[in-house]
Amino acid sequence: MLKAKKIVILGGGYGGLVTSRKLGKLLREGEAEVTLINKHDYHYIATQLHKTGAGTATDDKITIHIPNLIQTDKIRFKKGVIDSVDFNSQQVHLENGEKVSYDYLLLSLGFEVDTFGIPGVKENAFKIRSFRSTKAIYYHLLHQFEAYKEDRDPSRLTFVVAGAGFTGIEMIGELAEAIPGMCKIYNIPVSETRIINVEASGSVLPGFDQKAIDYTSNYVKKYGIELMTSTKILECTDTAIKLDNGTTLPSRTLIWSGGVRGNTLLEKLGLPIEKSRVKVDRHLRVQGMKNVFCIGDAARFMKNETEALPPTAQVAIQQAELCAPNIIAALRGESLREFQYSHKGTVASIGNTAAVGNVFGFKINGLFAAFMKQVIEARYLFVLGGPTLVIRQFSKLAKPYLKTAPQNK
Ligand SMILES: Cc1cc2nc3c(=O)[nH]c(=O)nc-3n(C[C@H](O)[C@H](O)[C@H](O)COP(=O)(O)OP(=O)(O)OC[C@H]3O[C@@H](n4cnc5c(N)ncnc54)[C@H](O)[C@@H]3O)c2cc1C
Repeated sequence: MLKAKKIVILGGGYGGLVTSRKLGKLLREGEAEVTLINKHDYHYIATQLHKTGAGTATDDKITIHIPNLIQTDKIRFKKGVIDSVDFNSQQVHLENGEKVSYDYLLLSLGFEVDTFGIPGVKENAFKIRSFRSTKAIYYHLLHQFEAYKEDRDPSRLTFVVAGAGFTGIEMIGELAEAIPGMCKIYNIPVSETRIINVEASGSVLPGFDQKAIDYTSNYVKKYGIELMTSTKILECTDTAIKLDNGTTLPSRTLIWSGGVRGNTLLEKLGLPIEKSRVKVDRHLRVQGMKNVFCIGDAARFMKNETEALPPTAQVAIQQAELCAPNIIAALRGESLREFQYSHKGTVASIGNTAAVGNVFGFKINGLFAAFMKQVIEARYLFVLGGPTLVIRQFSKLAKPYLKTAPQNK
């Protein structure tokens, strides 16, 4: 009898999880052993991390235990941090010293925040990167309110978000809804807080159409958000942010959403890299490698001669849906299919009751767009865990953690 091939998947984000689930469905009995390795035993819904940062959703709405999402009789889950990969001996090395052998490997290690080397940002800014990093934002916000009651230092209640792209606007929208609630709990007038959005380009949501840009600018201004477009951050300390217009903002909170890049681990692996992502062929294999695949934010898949697909959940999921059958085709010696991306649209939320974007070519904004955003999130959940997961997660209403100020111990 032929020995079962070993398929190892690195990363339990959208890409890795959807591939695992699909492999579980498509593989024949005894055909392969599949192992999914992820840093944590939970999957975080990356597209909703801004809610964790602002405290507008509970932890169990954003994180899901990975073994609950996979067929554990077919897919083995291993919690571990990947340290390196030896492509010659076909082994993955974990930080705890363990080695995991593979015949076929999938790299779906996702994104990292790019701080572009701006002094102080790496050390002092808060990142929308993972569940833990965004949870740190929330605890920091609470601490600032708590401390303000003692010292009345305005830098504590000056909250700055860097970047007015997709993630920056989602974060701003969430803060605009959360901060008044925090003010109420700590008995501090909202007028003593400032939320500032600093953006290097000339407008919010660069790349969106003018109607979406105007709608978003007006909407956030209505909430008292100060928009500083055409403004660059030059430096950041733990108490101040220096701008290129000569101003220094006294602030202890810089939430960085200036850009993302591929996982830095990928560069360590000696793979073909362009713009921090792994170059992949039309079949989602790492260029020049027959048994190593790469998808999602980690991969650089060219949609034409000059442009790569953007790092989005939509791309990661579609790639995962093809990657699973392609891995199986490779192990069966069959021909692989080429990846074709189909863009369904983009919707950015601005808090819970407004959003902007386009769906299937139709421009939308306001409450209807916010509803469509929920539909999109429901679809992601459906792909991750079927109807049960959709019902379970949606029944956990987005509710803030805080009802009263936490008591000092
Ligand atoms: C706030 C926010 C809102 C977003 N909204 C949208 C949206 O509305 N629509 C959309 O299409 N996209 C959106 N995105 C982008 C989307 O979340 C990403 O494109 C998507 O998560 C990429 O999936 P992935 O599987 O490639 O990587 P990830 O989801 O990043 O998963 C990578 C996994 O690898 C694990 N990992 C990393 N390094 C290691 C290691 N060394 N060892 C072990 N495990 C490791 C991580 O813990 C993680 O679980 C948003 C992103 C953010 C931050």
